[in-house]
Amino acid sequence: MDCIFCKIIAGQIPSKKIYEDDLTYAFMDIDPKAPVHLLIVPRKHIASLAEADASDTALLGHMHAVAKKIGAEHNLSAGYRTVINTGPDGGQTVSHLHMHLLGGRQMHWPPG
Ligand code: 5GP
Repeated sequence: MDCIFCKIIAGQIPSKKIYEDDLTYAFMDIDPKAPVHLLIVPRKHIASLAEADASDTALLGHMHAVAKKIGAEHNLSAGYRTVINTGPDGGQTVSHLHMHLLGGRQMHWPPG
């Protein structure tokens, strides 16, 4: 499958790893939009949140638990934002489900 995030998870494309476990891999975004900007990606290829099914419910919860763990371990006690872009209107550009974790500056609302 020609998926850039599958290749990153497999080590075929280099990345700056932040965290990994049996279910997820987290790495720094190549084009950071905040002082801290990383991506939490399930090892399982799911094209987008819209493609996740009931069997992925625990995995989706686990991704949030990983975000909390990383936030606690990366000096983000002032807070951070998690974002999942879904589909064209959501601004998704890579078709492998991923959660952005952004921090290190004041976030604004609404996002663009
Ligand atoms: P999306 O726009 O799909 O929500 O987010 C995709 C993210 O993946 C973008 O923030 C983009 O900078 C990041 N990205 C795309 N290609 C690569 C890559 O090869 N390496 C890394 N580390 N990040 C990437």
